Amino acid sequence: MTDATNRRDMLKGAAIVGAAAATPALAQGSGQGPANPPPAPFADPQTKYTKQPFPEQRQKWPALQRDMTPVPDCGERSYRGSGKLQGRRALVTGGDSGIGRAAVIAFSREGADVAINYYPSEEADAQDVAKLLRGEGRKVVLIPGDLTRQDFCVDLPTRAARELGGLDILVNNAAYQQSKASIADISFDQFDRTMKTNLYAMFYITKTAVPMMKPGSAIINTTSVNSVNPGEELLDYATTKAGIAIFTKGLAKQLAKQGIRVNGVAPGPIWTPLQVAGGQLPGTMGQFGQDTPLGRAGQPAELAPLYVALASGELSYTDGSIFGANGGTGTI
Ligand code: NAD
Ligand code: MG
Repeated sequence: MTDATNRRDMLKGAAIVGAAAATPALAQGSGQGPANPPPAPFADPQTKYTKQPFPEQRQKWPALQRDMTPVPDCGERSYRGSGKLQGRRALVTGGDSGIGRAAVIAFSREGADVAINYYPSEEADAQDVAKLLRGEGRKVVLIPGDLTRQDFCVDLPTRAARELGGLDILVNNAAYQQSKASIADISFDQFDRTMKTNLYAMFYITKTAVPMMKPGSAIINTTSVNSVNPGEELLDYATTKAGIAIFTKGLAKQLAKQGIRVNGVAPGPIWTPLQVAGGQLPGTMGQFGQDTPLGRAGQPAELAPLYVALASGELSYTDGSIFGANGGTGTI
């Protein structure tokens, strides 16, 4: 075994590999969870997941999670539900992989039926998560389609509500991120695609979904630490993330009168396909997340409880707020 393969194997072992998660012994049963679920194991957050620098890697956009080294941990084997979202109907964009997949797994195990949107070439990742959750007896609806298309975005909530019998939770989570060192390197097409995916789609989908949502429903938008402290190589992306944060706060004021809460999650560096599909500058993968106070990148599974809490009625007075998960940077 070469040093390189040895290191790769160690990294694969360090993050929990999702593909093995569908084994019946590890499945979560009906999704309602046990009456008294055991608490998450007491663990040092510095070492709970791998601290090893990630190996340099690049995939064609939008990248598949199943082909990453190590495979991100979306809670396939760890998330335990306790009926917090029993009977809810959720639509999650970008739910095939990364943070969206972690939210989908958690929602499903909390008792929700879930519709997942993703780009058509991500079918393999979407099938992986659908197979896992359907194997646990849960309803999962797959709606592939391109969010840069206005007609698709406007149709998406209607299709999800038709399949699920209604809509109570909307998670606008899909995004396009390409790192470029200089404004000179950002093409007009890239700028346009970043705006369309991250801002326009959120607007079209939300505008269509709101009339379907009853009091008690929740909208959660994924923003970023870049919304307040932009990485200089993420000029267009950071601009959209600031827009998402303001949209979240403004819409919360409007929809409070309808009993619909709108909140946001602002992740720091999280190990997901977005990063290996052009999200980081070439040659920088090994530094990803290393400069946080916790000394490592986050895994998607570590964000899932935030999405569950914001979706559930328990946080009924939390509205128009943004919650960080950034390894201690203090950004949000
Ligand atoms: P990810 O690649 O797993 O998820 C992004 C998803 O966006 C893709 O899976 C894809 O399904 C979807 N998408 C992009 N363009 C699309 C299109 N045209 N049509 C349909 N779907 C499209 O990566 P992730 O990091 O989990 O990203 C989820 C969210 O988290 C994004 O909003 C991202 O900006 C945000 N975020 C991520 C990080 C991080 O470090 N990973 C940090 C801050 C914020
Ligand atoms: Mg994906």
